[in-house]
Amino acid sequence: MNSFEKETNERLEAAVIKADTTKKVVLGAGVIDSVKSHFEQCFGSKPVQIIADVNTAKAAGPAAIQHIKSAGSNDGLEPFIFSDPYLHADYENVEQIEKLLSNNDAIAVAIGSGTMNDLVKLASHNCNKEYMVVATAASVDGYTAYGASINRNNFKQTFFCPAPVVVLGDLDIIDKAPKLMNAAGYADLIAKVPAGADWILADALGVEEIDHGAWDLVQGSLRKWVGDPAGVQKGEHKSLVRLMEGLIMSGLAMQKANSSRPASGAEHQFSHLWDNLNHTHNGQTPLHGLKVGIGSLASEALYKALLELEPEDFCSDIEKIKSYWPSWQETESLINNYFGDDVIMAQQVLAQSREKYITVEQLAQRLDRLKAGWSKLKLRLKDQLLGVENLQMALRHAGAASWPSDISIDIPMMRRSYRQAHLIRKRYTILDCVLQSGHWDNCIESLFGLDGFWGKGR
Ligand SMILES: [Zn+2]
Repeated sequence: MNSFEKETNERLEAAVIKADTTKKVVLGAGVIDSVKSHFEQCFGSKPVQIIADVNTAKAAGPAAIQHIKSAGSNDGLEPFIFSDPYLHADYENVEQIEKLLSNNDAIAVAIGSGTMNDLVKLASHNCNKEYMVVATAASVDGYTAYGASINRNNFKQTFFCPAPVVVLGDLDIIDKAPKLMNAAGYADLIAKVPAGADWILADALGVEEIDHGAWDLVQGSLRKWVGDPAGVQKGEHKSLVRLMEGLIMSGLAMQKANSSRPASGAEHQFSHLWDNLNHTHNGQTPLHGLKVGIGSLASEALYKALLELEPEDFCSDIEKIKSYWPSWQETESLINNYFGDDVIMAQQVLAQSREKYITVEQLAQRLDRLKAGWSKLKLRLKDQLLGVENLQMALRHAGAASWPSDISIDIPMMRRSYRQAHLIRKRYTILDCVLQSGHWDNCIESLFGLDGFWGKGR
């Protein structure tokens, strides 16, 4: 392990001490060779149940699988490899893994990235077991996060389940991951910029207080981690180590806060929306990070419009609010309009929207607070944000999607997505702020008008 990797591991070690579940994160070239000692330190001599799919097993390679196999006691458990090359985070796959784990004391070692980690995370939890993950790409921040994003009854939802006890990221394996996967991880990481802005907003309005420990884990070194998008694109070792550190720290922050808030805001709601609409690009579900990258552009573009407002643009007059603020019944029929074709999904969206719905009187109070604090808040937000053009350039340099058509989303769908993304989750974000302030129509119009970010084209 070189000194750069060593320093990174020291920072990770310090962060892991404060984590709930994760006891060990090891990052570096060739660390798979030491998998046995890490496994035994955490799980003793329990048997190992390797779980992978055809792609991730191939990415890790036979030598790595052999190392992992020999990590615990040899109980004759053969690796379980899903044969579907397009494996999805579907509940049926969780149940399949549960069957493997329920009648023995084996510890699952997931080999893979987002999907595989989430499947094994939930299955292990359902069997009351801890688990370990061997990362094959720097593609998501979910490795160390609490919770798994799984599709059940055609609706993508977050199941609460503990993070892995051990995360091992061998850079020799991650370096060879498809470039688009690491680019997606970069987009998922730079998304913490608008996500952080959403938390600043929620905190300032008394909706959701910032947890400073979790905030520092994500935001403290974020600019450094995302500083070299071209390096990620070229697969440069140092850039990938930084990227992986950022993704793991973001997961640890979610673990600490027991919520995805430190790493997810409106930009993730766009991504979840498209998942729930079963959106595909070239017949496949686009990688999580690519969708989140486009969601981040959507969020940053809207921030640009919001930040043009002055304190006097916020008005808490009850009659004025009544002129634009929809009643709950109106919100309900809007949800049924958008999502009514799928009864289960419509129910989920209704429940999420209901939780954050506020009355005209409550809204008046919130707007008073926004107006009074806006000058200061605006400076904080400007300081946090990158600017939509800079963000787009970074995504492009990293090789991630940088325009909706890159993932088969056209401009009318993008426009519709703003309102739909707002409805699907109870979390307070810029989408709520703009809608509640009565500036929805003019802000959206400015984005999609001829001179707007989306209107003027790529
Ligand atoms: Zn994400």
